[in-house]
Amino acid sequence: MEKQRVVVALGGNALGRNVEEQKEAVAKTARVIVDLYEQGMELIITHGNGPQVGMIQSAMDSLITKYDNFKQVPLPTSVAMSQGYIGIDLQNAIKYELYNRNIDGKVSTILSQVEVDLNDKAFDHPSKPIGRFMTKEEAEINEKNGVPCMEDSGRGYRIVVASPMPQRIRELQTIKTLLAAGHIVITCGGGGIPVANQNGKLVGVNAIVDKDNVSSLLAANLDANYLIILTAVEKVAINFGKENEEWLSDLTIEQAREYAAQGHFAKGSMLPKVEAAISFAESKEGRRTLITLLDKAPEGIAGKTGTLIHR
Ligand code: ADP
Ligand code: MG
Repeated sequence: MEKQRVVVALGGNALGRNVEEQKEAVAKTARVIVDLYEQGMELIITHGNGPQVGMIQSAMDSLITKYDNFKQVPLPTSVAMSQGYIGIDLQNAIKYELYNRNIDGKVSTILSQVEVDLNDKAFDHPSKPIGRFMTKEEAEINEKNGVPCMEDSGRGYRIVVASPMPQRIRELQTIKTLLAAGHIVITCGGGGIPVANQNGKLVGVNAIVDKDNVSSLLAANLDANYLIILTAVEKVAINFGKENEEWLSDLTIEQAREYAAQGHFAKGSMLPKVEAAISFAESKEGRRTLITLLDKAPEGIAGKTGTLIHR
């Protein structure tokens, strides 16, 4: 049987919220990944970086207040840093799990850049809150300096950035080469480092690409058959959190579109996952997406739980 090529997108709960939590969380995540590897899958792992990139930006920002000549560290630089330290923790955890099971497997982390279109409409409506929480006064100062801010769920003010669609993954050829050599590849962390292609020169862009959207593009580009989005819920629901909540096991593209249009999936959390699943399923016959809990991945793949989105 031909090997299944699978992109696994890890949500925030696979990584924990800080450096210590991450060490523990990746050990558990690695067990799930190596279970899939033992089933004979070719694996590409992507991951989020919300709390991590927030931590890096806050740390860098605090240096500005301390040292006169310290300038703001650009967001794409912080994304690159987060890809590095999350990648290495994941890579080591997977390697250790392989070692414990006496499996001779190879694992690599590839820092990756994702081209975005500077004319993307998303730049007109920055929507993704990032970084530390600020007071209203701090937010107003930022706004005056042309840095948009918004109130975030009663927790204070934060800087908001645009979340444009990914157009092209720059390190695709490297990723393919490593897959062909039998590696588990960790890549496109935090949606990838957003860049603009200016006549061949890649320039960092102040934005955050959604990790679910980039995972769908990556899966299509690698001709994967399966996208597995591991998150904090076992299934996708309609009427989520309401009395008439209904958990879905199966969704066709048409149904998914209809429910999305009816507003069943929250922007910034479930909607990008469902949209990613739709675009992947649409891109070629046989491509499907499973959305489920990290702990339930094996059961989900066996068709016993999770939400499967397909043609
Ligand atoms: P991740 O870090 O995995 O990307 P997110 O918090 O972005 O996680 O998205 C998963 C969350 O989406 C779930 O924990 C749930 O609270 C929320 N959510 C919003 N709408 C729905 C829905 N219709 N069905 C299930 N979960 C939903
Ligand atoms: Mg998310």
